[in-house]
Amino acid sequence: MNFRSEIPGYVRSVMEKMSSRGHEIYVVGGAVRDLAAGKVPDDFDLTTSASPEETIEVLNSFGIGYADTGLKHGTVMAIPEGKKVEITSFRTEGGYKDKRHPDGVTFIKDINEDVKRRDFTINAMYLDPDGFVTDPVGGLKDMEDKLIRAVGDPEERFREDALRILRALRFEALTGFEIEAETRKAMIKAAPGLREISAERIASEFRRTLTAGYASKAVRGAVDIISIFIPELKACEGFDQRSPYHDLDVLEHTLAVLDNIPPAEYGKRDEALALAAFFHDIAKPLCFYLGANGVGHMKGHPVVSRDIAGKRLNELKFPVKEIREVEDLVLMHDTFIKPERVMVRKLMASYPAAFLDKLEILQRADILAHAAPGQLRMEKLEHISAIRRQLTGEGFVTDIKDLDINGNDIIALGVKPGPAVGALIHCLWEDYLSEKVDNNKGDLIERLRIYVTFPT
Ligand code: ATP
Ligand code: MG
Repeated sequence: MNFRSEIPGYVRSVMEKMSSRGHEIYVVGGAVRDLAAGKVPDDFDLTTSASPEETIEVLNSFGIGYADTGLKHGTVMAIPEGKKVEITSFRTEGGYKDKRHPDGVTFIKDINEDVKRRDFTINAMYLDPDGFVTDPVGGLKDMEDKLIRAVGDPEERFREDALRILRALRFEALTGFEIEAETRKAMIKAAPGLREISAERIASEFRRTLTAGYASKAVRGAVDIISIFIPELKACEGFDQRSPYHDLDVLEHTLAVLDNIPPAEYGKRDEALALAAFFHDIAKPLCFYLGANGVGHMKGHPVVSRDIAGKRLNELKFPVKEIREVEDLVLMHDTFIKPERVMVRKLMASYPAAFLDKLEILQRADILAHAAPGQLRMEKLEHISAIRRQLTGEGFVTDIKDLDINGNDIIALGVKPGPAVGALIHCLWEDYLSEKVDNNKGDLIERLRIYVTFPT
């Protein structure tokens, strides 16, 4: 197996310059993983026996630009041909008192030492400038066997840096690989260490996990881990809804909905949709009560699920705008208006088209994850969707500003400037939404006569 021709020119030229000065240099991490899996990498990380100062010296002598913001950790960001390539010096790491940052970093010359600080065997394959893989801990075999395995003693590795637990889940979600048994055991044992990891880092891994193709598999095997930062998830596991509409427990239903959200781009799901699917029913165990006939009810769960999503995403420091979108999707997931034109017009005037598109995807995914009696809703959903498309085709406007009449037009008709003008426009807007008037100036002015008498 030789990957020489798959290393892009700008990466190879950096590698060749480093080795021309006697430094060992390899591609490592995600790019090697991708190449070994037959995929085209989008991001190349390099690792070298040169110290950061030596790397800078080489880059300088060949006139290659760089940024040195990661120098403390031994990383120089080379910028050949305007593209970014991280070059990290071989290093060992001291203790991890804070479970995240090594207390001290020592630069070393030996790849067999560098490998010991890497997280998983599939991330510890080194590709040299000639395109050959050096594989000190059996990463290629684990790729073949589709296994995610910690390098060295798994318990120690997750104790050192609990973020690795979530990295493992992300790689599982991306590849669909199995997490090797000892590695998984150690992850679960070390999970409380996640409490010491910053919200931003947890969020970054979690969002990448949920949007990846095998997200449901990763979540299913990691309920106890994810419950460290989203505790409400735990109660969903095995929770019987006792409802004719559901043949799955809340967790399995949730994962089925997640699976039903189709990938948007680059094989990834839209993030707000993935998060909304994750949270949409999370409050069901909290809202559950058993009716006299033995049927379970979960009234109000969209509101409570919305509140839980808001609270947890806030703690994880997601952007406010994204949180609002997820909250709205969760809140609305169970709301189905009458499939009538006027109702759909009012809906379209209340929410942006992009939001309604996402809501439709979420609702479709949700219905598909219901038992047969729940499928009746699909007809309603498709009907609403068809009306929405039809209205869009007809040029239906969703913003009052696009009404074909404005304040000046109304004043010109003899109405005194003041609050009455705005009130009249609102009346016309309501009439337009209710299909009582078309959106053209003549008809709108005619309609005004219902509300005011104009001097003739
Ligand atoms: P991607 O770029 O898709 O996130 P990657 O594997 O390249 O995946 P990076 O975060 O870019 O991940 O890190 C590059 C390499 O550095 C990893 O493959 C791994 O060998 C090592 N690494 C990164 N973070 C850690 C960590 N927390 N613990 C141990 N090794 C790590
Ligand atoms: Mg990378």
